[in-house]
Amino acid sequence: MTDVVHPLDGNAAAGPLSRLFASDVTGAVVVCGECGREGALATLALYGRGTGLVLRCPTCETVNLRLLDTGRTIHLDLRGCLRMSVRVALD
Ligand SMILES: [Zn+2]
Repeated sequence: MTDVVHPLDGNAAAGPLSRLFASDVTGAVVVCGECGREGALATLALYGRGTGLVLRCPTCETVNLRLLDTGRTIHLDLRGCLRMSVRVALD
C-alpha cells in the first residue's frame, strides 16, 4: 500500500519565502546556469539603472538575474541562474 501525498497550496510557503525576501541578498551565493561559476551576488556585473537591472556572470557574461521594478510590482527572472542560496538569520 502506498501513501497518498496531498500537496498544500502555495500559501504554505509564505513563511519561508518571507524570510528569503526580507534578507540582504547581496551575499547570496549564485551559481551560473551556463558555466557553473559560484560566487556572491555582489560579484556579478550589473547593467542598467533604475527600473530595470541585469546581472551577468563575470566569467561567461551569461545573464544570471533580471529585475524589473515597475513601482507596484517587482519582476524577478532567474533563468540564467542554476541556484541562488541565501543565508538567513536564525529565528
Ligand atoms: Zn557563467
